[in-house]
Amino acid sequence: MPTDPPLLLTPGPVTTTGRVRAALTRGDLCHREPEFATLLAALRADLVSAFGIADTHEAVLLTGSGTAAMESALTSLVRPGRAALVVNNGVYGQRLVTIARSYGIPAHEVRSGWTVPADPTEVAAALRRHPDVDLVCCVQHETTTGLLNPVAAIGAAVAGDDACYLVDAISALGAEPPPPAEVGADVFCGTANKALHGQPGVSFLLLSAAARRRVAEVPARGLYLAVATHLDQQRAGTVPFTPAVPACYALAEALAEFAEEGGFPARSATYRQRAGDLRAGLAPLGLAPLVAPAHRAASVTAFPVPAGIRYPDLHDELKRRGFVVYAGQGPLAGGVFRVAVMGALPAGAIGEFTATAADVLAALRAAAR
Ligand SMILES: *Cc1c(COP(=O)(O)O)cnc(C)c1O
Repeated sequence: MPTDPPLLLTPGPVTTTGRVRAALTRGDLCHREPEFATLLAALRADLVSAFGIADTHEAVLLTGSGTAAMESALTSLVRPGRAALVVNNGVYGQRLVTIARSYGIPAHEVRSGWTVPADPTEVAAALRRHPDVDLVCCVQHETTTGLLNPVAAIGAAVAGDDACYLVDAISALGAEPPPPAEVGADVFCGTANKALHGQPGVSFLLLSAAARRRVAEVPARGLYLAVATHLDQQRAGTVPFTPAVPACYALAEALAEFAEEGGFPARSATYRQRAGDLRAGLAPLGLAPLVAPAHRAASVTAFPVPAGIRYPDLHDELKRRGFVVYAGQGPLAGGVFRVAVMGALPAGAIGEFTATAADVLAALRAAAR
C-alpha cells in the first residue's frame, strides 16, 4: 500500500474482489434470452438462501440503488387511505418519511436522537395511537452514525398487528446482527454493493407471504417500481424492464463468495474484528466513536472531526495516502467523519489505515499550530 485506486473505507460502494469485478466484463447478454432467466432464477434463490429465509421469503431483484428498493417497497405496501409509521433516527429513516410524503402517503414518525436507538415500546404505543397504519418501517443499521436499531424487538411489537413490517437492511444484510431469520420482518430492503460486496446497480426486496399478499392488493402508484409487476414477471422467469445485467453477474459471484467464506457468521465476525482494530488504533489519537458501545454497528464507525482540523483536509490527505473515508451527513456534515470496514479489504488494511491516520493527524495538527 498505498493502493491505486485508493482503498474504499466507505459504506458503499465497497472494495470488491477481482472475481466480482471480472464478472462485469463477462460479455453482452440480452435479458430476453434464456441465459438471463437462468441467472435471475439463481439470484432469486441465492438471495433468500444466503440469509436462511428461503422457506418464508421470496426475492425480487430491482435495477437501481438501495433507495429504489426503499421506494418500491414503501409505495407498494400501503393501501389507499392508509399510512406508514416510520422509525426516524437518521438520514435513512428521514428518507423513508420523504418517500412516503412525496407519494401523498401519510407518515407518522417515532423519532429519537441520531445516536439513540428506537424504543420498541414507543413503536407499540404509536401503533395503538394510529389505527390507520399499514406499514411499520425501521432502518436496521443507520449508516448515518453507525447506530443499530432493535429491529427484532420492534418486529415483536408489530407482530399480531395487521400492519406489515419493513426493515431497511441495506447496510446490514450479510453482516450486522441479528440475521434476517431472527428479525420477523415482512420486507427486507437490500442492495448489492454494501456488505454483500457486489457492484452498484442492483438492489432487492425479500418478501414474506403477508407482504406478497399485500402487494397484490395495493393498486400501483407508479409504473417502474411497482413490486407486484416485478414479482409476477420474475416468477415467470423474466423482468419488465432492462436490468443492469453486468451488476447481476457481479452479484451472483459476490453471493457465491459470501457462501464460500461461511456466510453471515463469518462476515459478521470479520467486520467485528476489523471494527475492533479500527477503534483500538484510533483511540490513542483521541478519536472516540459517536455511538455508545451497546448500539454500535461494526460496519461503520462515526468519529467527531478533531478540533482545529477541517474534514476536507483530513479526507484529501488520507486519500492521497491510499484511503477513502466518508463525510458526515446533514447536520453532521463537517463535524463528523465515517470509516467503514466493509468490503474485500486486504489483510492488514485496517492497521495500515490507523497508522496512516496517526501520521496525517499529526501533520494536520502541526500545520494548524
Ligand atoms: C446506502 C443506504 C441506502 C441506499 O442508498 P443508495 O445510495 O440509494 O444505494 C438506504 N438505506 C441505508 C441504511 C443505507 O445505508
